Amino acid sequence: MYYNEKTTIFLDGKWIKATDARGGLYSQTLHYGSGVFEGIRSYKTEDGPKIFKAKEHFERLHYSAEKMHITLPYSTEELTRLSYELLERNELENAYLRPLVFLGENMALRATAETHVLLCAWNWNRYLGDHQLSVMTSSFQRPNPRSCFVDAKVTGHYTNSILATEEAKRKGYDEALLLDMNGFVAEGPGANFFFEKDEVLYTAPLGNILSGITRQTIFELCAELNIPVVEKLFTPKEVYEADGAFFTGTAAEVAAIKSLDGNNFNLSWEETLGSQLSSAYLNRVQKKEYKLFELV
Ligand code: PMP
Repeated sequence: MYYNEKTTIFLDGKWIKATDARGGLYSQTLHYGSGVFEGIRSYKTEDGPKIFKAKEHFERLHYSAEKMHITLPYSTEELTRLSYELLERNELENAYLRPLVFLGENMALRATAETHVLLCAWNWNRYLGDHQLSVMTSSFQRPNPRSCFVDAKVTGHYTNSILATEEAKRKGYDEALLLDMNGFVAEGPGANFFFEKDEVLYTAPLGNILSGITRQTIFELCAELNIPVVEKLFTPKEVYEADGAFFTGTAAEVAAIKSLDGNNFNLSWEETLGSQLSSAYLNRVQKKEYKLFELV
């Protein structure tokens, strides 16, 4: 699914076949979860494939690396250029790109000087699918922000996401919603969360969440569409009364939520601000917005 015998990847300065790549079994990333990564999408546009917000993603990769004392020997510009080359070499347009910075051999709990940079990409459908999600409040909290840098995209953090997703699936839900250590809603296992009440959108403030690039894009679209959006702390109880809700993420895009803990939202998805924003988001990433102007 992620690669086949034709797939080319970028590994440590070389273009090689994915099937020829080797990773070290003594890597600190494998043993202790210290590695950093990104999840990026490119979209087919009339001007060829465009990587959406490449700069923001590679800047976040640099931020994550710095927080974990990992040296990342490529600039944002180099990583962007290499990513376009990756798409071209694999003849990909609508793709998901996965840069991963993983570490060399080190069994001590110290920073590792040896770093490896992998860039790979594949075709990936919307992560949470296209149907409206039934979501449960997870029994797992997001990591305490004093235990790690929650706003860094670190491989090891995703054990928390896996536990929450697996719990939700095993209980018959589509996805989990995680609270912070104080019982306020934080985010999904791999996406940020918004809810709508009386034509206002609400989302958790930074502090206990990943600062999502899609979340930021939603803020930008809201400003343009005159949709009020408020960052505040809230509990699941407040969400039970909501008119609508959705997740946002690069892989998930804008994903409709039907219910939280069995409480259906007041409006049908098509009536919500989330539905409007989902279309606006797809137009933005595919650079189709000017077409809307032409119709006016
Ligand atoms: N929160 C978590 C925990 C995530 O893994 C992701 C996906 N990167 C997001 C939020 C959404 O971030 P973005 O919009 O930058 O993809």
